[in-house]
Amino acid sequence: MEDFKKVDPKKTDYLLGLFEPSHLQYEMYRKETGNTDPTLAELTEKAIQILQKNDKGFFLLVEGGRIDHGHHNNVAKEALTETVSFDDAIVKALQMVNEKETLTVVTADHSHVFNIAGYPPRGTKLLDKIPDDVHEKPPSDNKPMTILVYGNGPGYNSTRQNLTGVDTTRNDYQQQSAVPKKRETHGGEDLAVFAKGPMAHIFRGVREQVFIPAAIAYASCVGDNLAHCDGIKPTTPTNSGNMAENRLKASLVFLTASMILSIQI
Ligand SMILES: [Zn+2]
Repeated sequence: MEDFKKVDPKKTDYLLGLFEPSHLQYEMYRKETGNTDPTLAELTEKAIQILQKNDKGFFLLVEGGRIDHGHHNNVAKEALTETVSFDDAIVKALQMVNEKETLTVVTADHSHVFNIAGYPPRGTKLLDKIPDDVHEKPPSDNKPMTILVYGNGPGYNSTRQNLTGVDTTRNDYQQQSAVPKKRETHGGEDLAVFAKGPMAHIFRGVREQVFIPAAIAYASCVGDNLAHCDGIKPTTPTNSGNMAENRLKASLVFLTASMILSIQI
């Protein structure tokens, strides 16, 4: 981390950071393990500082890669705390770029068989169980249920565990799943794509996944489809803010799996 902090973006054009022998550690265990690896927000900040020096613009892809792994473990708290870290990285990036000349896209490459279920009352913490007194009809085995469950994965038990007295908010609590699998699988539903900045309006509707990189290239005036790029004026401080007249200077893509943007844990 000290070496990372010492890297001067003004004097650096290329940077490779290898902080772990494999994946970065889960953010949730940072305090107890004394992990000093940079956060996703710190990595994002350094990348943008280096790339922003290029007056021709830049493309940056940031992946919140461990959200996926927490879900594969059926440990929702790992996935959700990584999602908070992912959100921090987006906030940091948006503070550093000019929205009038930066297209920001936030999306996922797949979902997980992860469910938020059971009609929890407003204000219930996501990692908690459904309070007994709000069950329209309690589970037919009369055992408590958590709000978060998985369709498959290592949280399966042939006899469903009775969660009475179990702290389901603890760090290593593994949610229950319906089908035994060593690793939980990805899901198949449609994914959300959020965009802001120039050409953000083309990211709407239901699209094939291949549309997204094509749309980013189109917005960036990169590739073969350039007819719309004629006459685009460079952004100036006095520009009225008309997106069509602004030259796109940067594209930021934030990629995750099974995105939940607003959570309470
Ligand atoms: Zn995966």
